[in-house]
Amino acid sequence: MKTIGLIGGMSWESSQVYYEIINKKVKEALGGYHSCKNVMVSVDFAEIEELQHKNDWSALDKLMTNSAQALAAAGADLVILCTNTMHLCSEAIKAGIDIPFLHIADATGQEITSRNIKKVALLGTKFTMEKDFYKDILQKEYGIEVIIPPPEEREKVHHIIYNELVHGKINKASKIIYQRIIKSLEKQGAQGVILGCTEIPLLISKEDVDIAVFDTTKIHAEKAVEWALKV
Ligand code: GLU
Repeated sequence: MKTIGLIGGMSWESSQVYYEIINKKVKEALGGYHSCKNVMVSVDFAEIEELQHKNDWSALDKLMTNSAQALAAAGADLVILCTNTMHLCSEAIKAGIDIPFLHIADATGQEITSRNIKKVALLGTKFTMEKDFYKDILQKEYGIEVIIPPPEEREKVHHIIYNELVHGKINKASKIIYQRIIKSLEKQGAQGVILGCTEIPLLISKEDVDIAVFDTTKIHAEKAVEWALKV
């Protein structure tokens, strides 16, 4: 088994889910006393959130690259970044390490393609929904059409992530808001919804909606384990 390197803490609420999934998945595959070989660098999310909202992506590039290099030095064979948003730094990370980096949008694109779905809705932070770094991979590499909510709904989705979900607050009223937004994207032809923020699966699960659900935390963590067990 290879060692998975995780850049976590964004937020730790979802990093602990990654940790659980990778261990369960290895146990499921190998049985017995097996668990997942991994190392994690966990950052202080307060620093990250401040730099994000100041739009200081070059400082974030450095922080993420340093974290990836620390993982490589600690023996990681693969790096995964336990957040969708921070994949804005993926080019810098890839350039800074000699070991593979498994991009969350690639993992998700592969999963969507395997389900033969062609048009999806994307929910995440405003960075993830509005910038091109995530949608481009799905559209250009996988030929998947991606739609996002209108601006005022994007604001609500983003606000709930930063003010509730990363603090571990799960509110029924917020779930209803997300369900309503997903329903209106379904009416625009979305066959599935990408939970493109690693905390959204804490709020929404497949039982809550009528279309296919792509839980990026689960997909990403499981693909990392498949890689670790295959090579
Ligand atoms: N974990 C979230 C994501 O997947 C948001 C927190 C962050 O900005 O990293 O995008």
